[in-house]
Amino acid sequence: MPVIKDVVCTLCGCLCDDLEATVEDNKITKVGKACKLGRAKTMGPFLHERIEKPMIRENGELKECSYDEAITKAAEILVAAKRPMSYGWCSTSCEAIEKAIMLAEETGSLIDSTANVCHGPSALAAQEKGAPSCSLGTAKNYADLIIFWGCNPVHAHPRHQTRYSTMAKGAFTPNGKKDKKMVVVDPRNTDTAKKADMLLQLKPGTDYVLIEALRAIVNGHEDILPDEIAGLPKTKVVELAEMCKAAKFGIIYFGMGITQTRGRYKSGDNVASLISDLNQITKFVMIGMRGHYNVTGFGQVASWETGFPMAIDFSRGYPYYNPGETGTNDVLMRREVDAFITGAADPGAHFPQESIKHLFNIPAIQVDGYANPTTEFSDVVIPAAIAGVECDGTAYRMDCQPIRMKKLVETTFKSDEEILTEMIAKVRELKGNGANGGA
Ligand code: SF4
Repeated sequence: MPVIKDVVCTLCGCLCDDLEATVEDNKITKVGKACKLGRAKTMGPFLHERIEKPMIRENGELKECSYDEAITKAAEILVAAKRPMSYGWCSTSCEAIEKAIMLAEETGSLIDSTANVCHGPSALAAQEKGAPSCSLGTAKNYADLIIFWGCNPVHAHPRHQTRYSTMAKGAFTPNGKKDKKMVVVDPRNTDTAKKADMLLQLKPGTDYVLIEALRAIVNGHEDILPDEIAGLPKTKVVELAEMCKAAKFGIIYFGMGITQTRGRYKSGDNVASLISDLNQITKFVMIGMRGHYNVTGFGQVASWETGFPMAIDFSRGYPYYNPGETGTNDVLMRREVDAFITGAADPGAHFPQESIKHLFNIPAIQVDGYANPTTEFSDVVIPAAIAGVECDGTAYRMDCQPIRMKKLVETTFKSDEEILTEMIAKVRELKGNGANGGA
């Protein structure tokens, strides 16, 4: 039976590239080396119901149509809109993301990624303070102190610890876990925390305070701190600061516990400051635990295409960026947007109620392999091939390393890249014919 080796898993930001997929009769029948989540994702096209055909909503019902009809309808909606918005594109290839940005430019749209509801504040923090970082390979080989702050890799990134962090055997940590200390900072006693050498179970929303206290201790100002910090005894905070100072190579892997709690990007920029303080004493780095497998790729492509990583507004005819004003939920909550296109994301399941209410009232286009809550309010639904299974492409791992995804089986579905390329051509044709709107 043909086994394809070095397959890339396209679920989480770990982008594990060592999977083994058995393919029989153009079907994946077995996936080796993946975690449960990765196996389900890679075999997904053969396990879950697909959106079989393109569809357009008529009198409240989605009716099947051809790709050409759906793409034309989508282009008409975007060209007719005064303030269109494009969202998502983080579970697809960089090649498709490039086209989504081109389509946004052609139609004078706003375009934003799923970072709007997860690690967006990390990008703002990096713009303010930088992000002293390294590759996961470097971290695997050198790190002897691993801090998971506001994240739960046991469930969200199941192979992170064995491939890159706590259990991984590195060149300078040949005994794996025995050569490393693991700390978890989290208000909950998570399954990751249960395996840690030390858990700092801080009060919810006090991350900024704890980071600030650690900085004070690292900089020799322990005496000014109170006996209780972020709901923790000062002695425990001092103990963590001492562990950090004693490490040969430390790393903070941070999640939405930092980026989506009180303080948001200010907490992220304070982590960067803590890392910089610690680098006066030893070696320390930080990496965001990115969720969607190519949300990092969106930031990369958008930055090199427009100068900005997300929340980009093309309505002025050039890229403008001001998260808080131009983010997806900012414009949806202000009811500013009059057409919406989303791809490889599910805003219907993740957006606040006020945003969803508005999405029900405007024309919406969905490009996706599977039906999800977003399908319920979409007026045009275009099925897409699953990147990394049915088509190839590039994705960026959470440490900004580009990885090439393979095509494993043949399909009749068009890729996101093909759909967007055809939509751009259609938009140009409509604009050339004197249609209203656009950039
Ligand atoms: S850890 Fe993430 S990338 Fe790796 S196999 Fe599991 S889901 Fe896939």
